[in-house]
Amino acid sequence: MRNLLGKSLWATVFGGTCYLCRGAAQALLCAACDADLPRLAPPRCPRCALASPRGEVCGRCLSDAPRYDATIAVLSYEFPADALVHALKFRGELALAGLLGAMLSQEISSHEVDCVVPVPLSAERLRSRGYNHAAEIARHLAPAKLDLALCVRGRDTPPQMDLPYAERRRNVRGAFGCTRALAGQSVAVVDDVMTTGATLDEIASVLKTAGAARVINWVVARTFPAR
Ligand SMILES: [Zn+2]
Ligand SMILES: [Zn+2]
Repeated sequence: MRNLLGKSLWATVFGGTCYLCRGAAQALLCAACDADLPRLAPPRCPRCALASPRGEVCGRCLSDAPRYDATIAVLSYEFPADALVHALKFRGELALAGLLGAMLSQEISSHEVDCVVPVPLSAERLRSRGYNHAAEIARHLAPAKLDLALCVRGRDTPPQMDLPYAERRRNVRGAFGCTRALAGQSVAVVDDVMTTGATLDEIASVLKTAGAARVINWVVARTFPAR
């Protein structure tokens, strides 16, 4: 069992019980709950991380190529991964960013990128929530390369999860900006959940317009966009 938080901090915050089952635990999750997490298995499309026979670029990415170049995801967005993400995002359980970030960090190669940027919240939403959950996850991936100011959200948009899939691309169009030139750089974009990929595609477009040579998504959970 990986010790994902220092034991003393974990014991102080969670009192030695598993976050999910409340049984005795040596870390945020007990060994059984950790083993039961819905980890994504290969083969997957290297571009979008959906299941793909033989691990080749999938038909969706071939017919409608996204602007990002690759996606790394670790969990399927189903119980209890959805509960963990939800608690981090809406209930301020920031210790879960350490748990989810540690899982993601095992799958990524931080030396592949020049900088790491979380999907930004608008200034208004950041004020009301008090933190950006994607930034909290990103802190555990490649802290020396984290650039919180690189990508900004210029206007508030309705949450993607409240919209039909067909409207998500239009909802985020023009919502993001890049604050500096990125000539030839490789950039990793961090988020909690990827569904249609519309937000990440829009951000990749903005980063590439600023000169990025390569954009990789590092996401905790992937869900299949049913149509
Ligand atoms: Zn447990
Ligand atoms: Zn794909």
